[in-house]
Amino acid sequence: MNRAVDAPTTLGSEGSGPGNLRSDGIAGIDTGRVIGRYGSRPGPRLICLAGLHGNEPAGVLALRRVFATLQETRPRFNGEMVAIAGNIGALRAGRRYLERDLNRGWSPRGMDRAEASTGASAEDREQAELIAVLRTELGEDRSDTRVIDLHTTSADSPPFLTLADTLRNRSFARSIGLPLVLGIEEQIDGALLEVVTASGPVALGIEAGQHDDPVSVDHHERVVWMALIAGGHVAEEDATHARSMREALRSARNGLPMVFEVRYRKPVMPGDRFTMRPGYRNFQRVSAGEIVGRDRLGPVTVHEDGRIFLPLYQDQGNDGFFVVRDVHPAWLRLSATLRRARISSLAQWFPGIHRASRREDALIVDRRIARWLTVDVLHLLGYRKARVTRGWYVFRRRSHDRRVRD
Ligand SMILES: [Zn+2]
Repeated sequence: MNRAVDAPTTLGSEGSGPGNLRSDGIAGIDTGRVIGRYGSRPGPRLICLAGLHGNEPAGVLALRRVFATLQETRPRFNGEMVAIAGNIGALRAGRRYLERDLNRGWSPRGMDRAEASTGASAEDREQAELIAVLRTELGEDRSDTRVIDLHTTSADSPPFLTLADTLRNRSFARSIGLPLVLGIEEQIDGALLEVVTASGPVALGIEAGQHDDPVSVDHHERVVWMALIAGGHVAEEDATHARSMREALRSARNGLPMVFEVRYRKPVMPGDRFTMRPGYRNFQRVSAGEIVGRDRLGPVTVHEDGRIFLPLYQDQGNDGFFVVRDVHPAWLRLSATLRRARISSLAQWFPGIHRASRREDALIVDRRIARWLTVDVLHLLGYRKARVTRGWYVFRRRSHDRRVRD
């Protein structure tokens, strides 16, 4: 279904009753930068981000519910949880963004620019504020800090997680119990979670379902509780309905495999006039050659068998769709073993691969020699594609990829 992003988003019902979050016609939701805070330091920290996209209020609504339940039930609580709103102006307007996507531009240069040019655009101001708040909240010691970033999708979707593929992130993701999609950060430059992961904490992105579906709020609420349990803030037996929440997440998975890998991204430029064929559900299977949309040049097809991922059913956004494929669990176990054994240093001996002279964690890969198999092997060893130049890939090892809390 094609849903316009500009339609007003409402506060919706705070309960989990039927209906659409937009049904009563109030445009957007109001929130301060700090949605809520609970507990105290020292101890583990959980930082929740919500509404980085203004047409995704489900995360903010879910966090309000979690804080209300915490206040009401007062479980034994270790450490601190804080929830931060992303694009406050866009949340109020019920739009993905006002001038630019706030989940882009988190490269070191983009962050410098936003901080230097406070006031240039609505999103520059939001980003500068977020940088300051995140610095304070993350603090110096990030070893026992987890960050979750709550999103929703324009297409109907079961809930799933996105993450930079480090062993620590995988371990945290496993305790949430939802399918993972690996490699999204290779396709999207400058997402907030990427810079957060690189700065030390364990970090996960959560996509809870369709933007306006009240069930998305329920899923976000459940995931936040699972994160509180996994982080050691609340004991499973002290969290009200923990078991039924875990069960609800499992059944929302609806038999989907647990791990996927991104194979392809369809970029959309202004003027492409890209439209997705209606009716695709997230993770729906597609075959090579299938026409999945149109743009100004004609039909748009997929190039390999797989599953359609994040099909674009809103008028703002520059990812038309992705293609993902299932990853066998044995692959994950093998890669964890290889990374723990620090076999990654052997990668430079593969044909077409050289260690970069100045950066110890970077490899330069000749694209003519190193094709998909090599890319797969490098993923296995914990490298991610950082840059593509004419004849070369540059791969970088993901930082913080050795220590695991199991
Ligand atoms: Zn989003």
